[in-house]
Amino acid sequence: MTRYFLLLSIATFASAGSLQGQNRSPQRGIDVLHYDFSLTIPDSGRNIEGLALITVRRSLPARHFILDLVDLHVDTVWVNQRPVGFAREPDLLDIPLTPSHDSSPDTLLIAVRYQGEVKDGLIIHADEKGRWYAFGDNWPTRARCWLPTVDQPGDKATVTWNITAPSNRKVVANGTLVEEKSLPLKSGASSRTLTRWTTTRPIPPYLMVIAVGTLVKYDLGLTASGLSEFPNGVQQSVYVVPELADYLPGPFKSAGAIVEFYSRTVAPFPYEKLAHVQSFTRYGGMENASAIFYANDLFQRRDVSTGIIAHETAHQWFGDAVTPQSWGHLWLSEGFASYFEQLWVESSTDIPAFRTGMGRLRNEILRSSVTFSRPVVDTLETVPMKLLNSNSYQKGAWVLHMLRSMIGDSLFFQGVRSYYRSHRHATATTDDLCDELGKVSKRDLRWFFDQWLRRPGVPELVVTSKIDHDKQEIVVSVSQDQKSNPYRFPLRIALLDTAGRSQLMSLQVSAERTVTLVVPFPAGFRPATVSYDPNTELLASIR
Ligand SMILES: [Zn+2]
Repeated sequence: MTRYFLLLSIATFASAGSLQGQNRSPQRGIDVLHYDFSLTIPDSGRNIEGLALITVRRSLPARHFILDLVDLHVDTVWVNQRPVGFAREPDLLDIPLTPSHDSSPDTLLIAVRYQGEVKDGLIIHADEKGRWYAFGDNWPTRARCWLPTVDQPGDKATVTWNITAPSNRKVVANGTLVEEKSLPLKSGASSRTLTRWTTTRPIPPYLMVIAVGTLVKYDLGLTASGLSEFPNGVQQSVYVVPELADYLPGPFKSAGAIVEFYSRTVAPFPYEKLAHVQSFTRYGGMENASAIFYANDLFQRRDVSTGIIAHETAHQWFGDAVTPQSWGHLWLSEGFASYFEQLWVESSTDIPAFRTGMGRLRNEILRSSVTFSRPVVDTLETVPMKLLNSNSYQKGAWVLHMLRSMIGDSLFFQGVRSYYRSHRHATATTDDLCDELGKVSKRDLRWFFDQWLRRPGVPELVVTSKIDHDKQEIVVSVSQDQKSNPYRFPLRIALLDTAGRSQLMSLQVSAERTVTLVVPFPAGFRPATVSYDPNTELLASIR
């Protein structure tokens, strides 16, 4: 996601209590395969009625199946079509499984009928024209506020949506549109339509969304021809309120080229289609699988940037198709999206623009207090919202950038593709990425991952150099002033002569407090000045 409303959302989150921040531990031996949600959206107000059919695979006998569900009233629960008793806590639905269920096949069908006023997760509200909208906005653990789910990033499942809503509203959701059917008119009621969408790829609950509202569709057509997991290409479209139809395609002119670039760089696009939706979300943009939601405000100001489109689109691969196994590895989602946003700049603009972008991210890291207090892989942080920080985004992006500089473009992208292929439509941890890149580059990269991701801080360097014309050498001294242990890294220097010619050299700095390196002049070259990290490749402060 893009952290457009970060401060606002942290404030909102804090007032919502700690409940949504906590994740219970996963239930061993339980795996949700499919959710089939039938929801009735009201003409106005926030009361919904729902029926969830949940297909669960059990690999171990279990006496309970626990679903996350906050506040809503549960009417009935069935297991394999038989009604069962259940226990309700404010945020949990505890469904007992009896020994008789053990003899049934490994797959159980759980049904939950529920209803009530939705307070979060599905943002339902009227705009200034009195039109009612409903938008799913689940990150990190708010799916449970409107959907009974195993609400953890590690449990991915396919999802089918059956949405009954007033006929004057459009319904957009994950996956493929299956049908839009007018329902028989009930006396005294407004006309209603059943819209069904379904996915064939598993996604985590935090990405399962619907949009219901007065929205018009702008068709961007078939993009990235032949570069999708599905036949033909990627059907893209934009949904906006009618009065903004003339804004389109606007920045979405680039949407086709963006998907094509990532498909070529990583792998074919992983989903059935890609919709871009003007919505109400806490975030600037939210990367819901195959249906990206953008903040209403950005559209109202007609200020959607290609940067945000590139960032959210990159998430379709990283975050959505390859999902961090748990929140502590969030950088595998946000760091990748942030870096691939910059890679889009590099590809669509030029290398100087890319370096400027990386320089900006580096300044943000150096200015952020979280850099110096928490590691990027932060498995001790229990509140996911707190992980929306410069470690997960900017520093995550920089770790990828340094890996690329260190092992080279060819091996880096080969490694990223191999990591993606191994974990596509599943989950991954930081070690999985380390292993894949290590395998491809035939190097042990654990030291690199440990020093950059598993401890706080960055190198704080004092670098000096002396050009010795008699000995024809440059003496470079590097001291590391940070509190944490010394880092090991390549330091690129540029030598410039009086005629304005330059030579690049790479020095290996070992993990010591002070290192002095002696570099002979390149043949036939008399340097006049030395500059450090000229290509923006090292995450460090340099004095
Ligand atoms: Zn993001």
